[in-house]
Amino acid sequence: MKIHEYQARDILSNAGVPVPAGTVIENVETAASTYKQVSKEAGTDLVVVKAQVFAGGRGKAGFVKLVRSPEAAEEAARFMFSNKMVNQQTGPDGVECKKILMAAGVDIEKEFYLSITTDRATRRNILIASAEGGTEIEVVAESNPDAIIKEPIHPLMGLQPHQARRLAYRLGFKGKQVSQAVKIMIALDTVFREKDCELAEINPLIVTPASQDHPDGQVLAIDAKFGFDGNALFRHKDIAALHDPSEDNANELKAQKFGLSYIQLDGNIGCLVNGAGLAMSTMDIIKHHGGEPANFLDVGGGASEEAVTEAFKIILDDEGVEGVLVNIFGGIMRCDVIAQAVVNAAKQVGFNVPLVVRLEGTNVEEGRKILQDAQSEIPTMQAADDLGDAAQKVCGAVAGA
Ligand code: GDP
Ligand code: MN
Repeated sequence: MKIHEYQARDILSNAGVPVPAGTVIENVETAASTYKQVSKEAGTDLVVVKAQVFAGGRGKAGFVKLVRSPEAAEEAARFMFSNKMVNQQTGPDGVECKKILMAAGVDIEKEFYLSITTDRATRRNILIASAEGGTEIEVVAESNPDAIIKEPIHPLMGLQPHQARRLAYRLGFKGKQVSQAVKIMIALDTVFREKDCELAEINPLIVTPASQDHPDGQVLAIDAKFGFDGNALFRHKDIAALHDPSEDNANELKAQKFGLSYIQLDGNIGCLVNGAGLAMSTMDIIKHHGGEPANFLDVGGGASEEAVTEAFKIILDDEGVEGVLVNIFGGIMRCDVIAQAVVNAAKQVGFNVPLVVRLEGTNVEEGRKILQDAQSEIPTMQAADDLGDAAQKVCGAVAGA
């Protein structure tokens, strides 16, 4: 589960990470007065106006703007509330901005990247840092991989102060900045573990220019992104309460309600499968035969008629779907029951794209007979002999379409 930047900033701030103060607005009418309030409290006329959407790359898309007057703040807010943000991360449809954070602006001497995530290869949480902050880390990884530092974190002991100190020096922090950076890294690691994060990212972490009060500058977090393990949310009611469904995929939400595990993808072959492992291998075999899966969908062990009907509706609701592959293994559930469910659901939903059905397992002969008998009523349906045959048939049907 993702949360918004303003929420992530609160979590960081509560963990002891210095974050410039800010206020969230939900309409353009409050922009000017909020600018005045933020500016007055922070003692600076520089305020940053930031669209609260889950996608990154807001700066380049014009959805993070530095302003120095109430009028400019209002203009920036109006732009963000009335335009969709479109970039590579949002996809072509873009995302709407419903909330804007106005935060005290700061002068930046240098930007850094800092994050923690789980590294499957080493089976450790890993701290990723770079002195090339601000830009997307994926870009740095490609153009200048040596500029990225990775530090594995011990699962029981957490990030150790000596590790953090060494990292701070390697990143080029100097003087009093070092202890500030160390404190931030350790706080980030603590939050990551305590809140069961999948990602905790500060980009950029910045150093402010030297001033009289801070001769070595200040280390601050000015952007934050958190992702949480959905399976651990039950023990973090405070985090679960931060959920904003406005950017969730509508079909994924619907699927959740019916107990289906559904993830929309970009391809054109819809998949309906019982069991997560079988769903994964179905996607693999579609790819092997040159096709592209439109979704991952596990209807669960039961594959009841109701679940299959809903699953069909959800799959066909995706305009990109040009063919559907049903791949069911009847274990405890009998194939004849499943075949009947597939037939009834297909009749109810009405299929105008090719439907290929592969059944295997208990009572498979009876199941196939049910499919055969229903053939005339569902003309786009084909039965397949095995998984390879099924993938070939659906890929062929879609390619020929
Ligand atoms: P993102 O583009 O979605 O990652 O949004 P960020 O919050 O990271 O902002 C993008 C960029 O805007 C940062 O990398 C900074 O260069 C700049 N920026 C954001 N806040 C401030 C600020 O308070 N002062 C200054 N000078 N620049 C800022
Ligand atoms: Mn950022």
